[in-house]
Amino acid sequence: SQSFSTTTRKASLIRSSSRLFASSAEEYDVVVIGGGHAGCEACTAAARTGAKTALLTQNLSTIGELSCNPSIGGIGKGHLVREIDALGGVMGDVADKAGIHFRMLNRRKGPAVRGPRGQMDRDLYKNNMQASLSNYENLHLVEGSVEDLLLDEGDQIDSVVSFVDPTEDLTLLNSLSNSKGASLSSSDANKDKRKARIRGVVVKNEDGSTTEIMAKCVVITTGTFLRGVLMLGKDRYSGGRHLRDSEEVEPPSVGLANTLARFGFPLGRLKTGTPARLDGKTIDWDACTIQPSENPAAPFSHIRQFLGEQPPNVAKNTLIDCYMSRTNEETHKLVMDYAHTLPEYDGMDGKGNGPRYCPSIYKKVERFPDRNGHNSFLEPEGLNTDLVYPNGMSGPYPPEIQEMIFRTMPGLANVEIVRPGYDVEYDYVNPQSLTHTLETKTISGLFLAGQICGTTGYEEAGAQGVIAGANAGRAAVASYDGDSASPFILGRDEGYIGVLIDDLVTRGTQEPYRMFTSRAEYRISLRADNADLRLTRKGVEYGVVRDEERIASVEAREMLIEDRVNVLRNFKLFVTDWAERDGTDLMAGDAMNRKGREGHKKSGEEVLGMPHVTLESVEKIVAEVQQEERERALAAAAAGDDVEIPSVIQGSPPSIYDTVEATIKYKSYVSRQHKDMESWRKAQGVRIPPELEYNHESLPTLSKEELEKLSKIRPSTFAEASQISGMTPQSLVYLYHVVTKRI
Ligand code: FAD
Repeated sequence: SQSFSTTTRKASLIRSSSRLFASSAEEYDVVVIGGGHAGCEACTAAARTGAKTALLTQNLSTIGELSCNPSIGGIGKGHLVREIDALGGVMGDVADKAGIHFRMLNRRKGPAVRGPRGQMDRDLYKNNMQASLSNYENLHLVEGSVEDLLLDEGDQIDSVVSFVDPTEDLTLLNSLSNSKGASLSSSDANKDKRKARIRGVVVKNEDGSTTEIMAKCVVITTGTFLRGVLMLGKDRYSGGRHLRDSEEVEPPSVGLANTLARFGFPLGRLKTGTPARLDGKTIDWDACTIQPSENPAAPFSHIRQFLGEQPPNVAKNTLIDCYMSRTNEETHKLVMDYAHTLPEYDGMDGKGNGPRYCPSIYKKVERFPDRNGHNSFLEPEGLNTDLVYPNGMSGPYPPEIQEMIFRTMPGLANVEIVRPGYDVEYDYVNPQSLTHTLETKTISGLFLAGQICGTTGYEEAGAQGVIAGANAGRAAVASYDGDSASPFILGRDEGYIGVLIDDLVTRGTQEPYRMFTSRAEYRISLRADNADLRLTRKGVEYGVVRDEERIASVEAREMLIEDRVNVLRNFKLFVTDWAERDGTDLMAGDAMNRKGREGHKKSGEEVLGMPHVTLESVEKIVAEVQQEERERALAAAAAGDDVEIPSVIQGSPPSIYDTVEATIKYKSYVSRQHKDMESWRKAQGVRIPPELEYNHESLPTLSKEELEKLSKIRPSTFAEASQISGMTPQSLVYLYHVVTKRI
């Protein structure tokens, strides 16, 4: 173990920016290091809890920079943005303001897997993010590069941290049981290990001197910057990323990486890549397939959606079209012929450990040699620029080879590259060294979030930022009363954010982790359309959501949805009438005919439960029948009868449409899922017999790795078993069935 003594020098000077914001040299409750997507959410979440917060970042003018693709959202990722928004975060609102092309992906599939996606104007995104942060209550923006961390005097860190052996990470509580706010510290052994406490950070000034800034909690969100190395062909140079508008490279974060290594954090190397930026003036757009934006579009922000507002550029119709080109055999030949010019990496024996689900063009051609082409969307980077982002075409070949490769594709025969694509390889911290609040297990008050934890993507980074920032803020505020805050944790059954963090901290990751809907067991319930209904109340309870308008919109939406479901439940019509009025075969489908006897009535809810029947078509028939009833009543009233005049429903507005449809369509699945969740919660406490033999004879479906870990740890309950890294949910369910049969 190591000990660290610190001086008590107080912060005297913080390099302030004359460009954007003022800075101050005070002590803070929370310091967030890094102004990327995790940092922006972390600092605003901490500030919302009431903590006096500083965002400390290398360069104030790069706050909110979209380092790679100019887009936000997508399948799984769009769910995360809606959840960030539901917790009061900034990403959804900024993406709405900066969006210039919107699509709801998977629109034709069920609401559970629909994901909102928006193409961003890079400048609008960055400027709007900076504008949001500069006016944020409790938040100070400070420019500077953090070199080191300060711990309490005499603090000791056990440098042999538990996660080095992944079979020993039993000290975490399970996210499901924790999600209701249980206490964080799960064992005395863990308490003993957490000897060190963060006290602040050391900032390196331009003249080489250093300044100390004190903080009760610190959140590190340094993205791809830790010992970052940029690569282009065989050229390697230090840097976190390229500055967008110049030839300059942003410096890597070396001091902080050394600090983390010194404190015993397990560091690994990951890589990611960004494609070349093309000159749109040199693209033959007519040779590409056009993909226009949706208009009207579904906004990311729940409040905007509730108010029926369109994202500003949709309302003004200042939208851009995207286009599609495609690789071909000629492209693939060049990709493989010039493979020897690609960089050699530090990780994976020189091959680099990159994102499996966002692979380079070389990886795609290598992995799918039989495919005759791969689509590439050509995405304009803004309203006032000719730069075009060729999605899916990263590959850090030397610039002249990159150009040759592009020129084989339709529309790109004469394309010119403005900036070549490059890769970056960087340190990340094994996220198994974190608890579910994203606090490090060994240094209390120190949190990590974003790409530093092994993820890739703005949305994954932002999602972690909210949780880390909220917990840091809560811990700092509670400390004034000598209290410890109950942890703000989302379970796997509550949100994609819960799935993301649970996957990271219990299983770790060996490659950049990206979110998919398939990672969520409870995806029927965890939809993009209902993130506010799932999370905003919890956000209020934990002090992360304070915005009255947001709370009011959730309450109003819940009432409107309930009313509409009741209308459809109580409205009944003969089966034959449904089919006749529909005028299509949909409502006369087999299912209905088989069940529908002459004289039998079905409710609107039942009819909508049938596959392929849409809410719109059911509501149309309900309104039609109600209108006829109303006209009859009006005629009777005119004839002097004392009758009640019934009202006629309007079609559900976009603010509730998806949620009403999904609530009814998924009713039976959701209730089954709720039962599953309930039985899993109960199962947590079920004891596993100590004599159980962990071998292939008694547990044939478990993997060798799982059996080894189980037999070493011998968990006494399912809560413990679920915390073993590498245990899949399926294996746990299987183990549960085996054990309960034996009891
Ligand atoms: P970042 O957005 O990287 O922000 C880090 C911030 O920390 C920066 O503001 C930086 O200035 C600041 N900082 C760093 N060190 C210090 C320090 N010591 N002191 C103060 N401030 C510091 N994502 C994908 O989804 N798919 C891709 O294919 C993809 N490719 C990428 C390719 C490249 C070349 C790069 C650079 C990024 C790529 N990304 C990709 C990643 C995407 O940019 C990140 O997922 C996302 O930005 C991570 O957010 P973050 O907040 O963790 O870090």
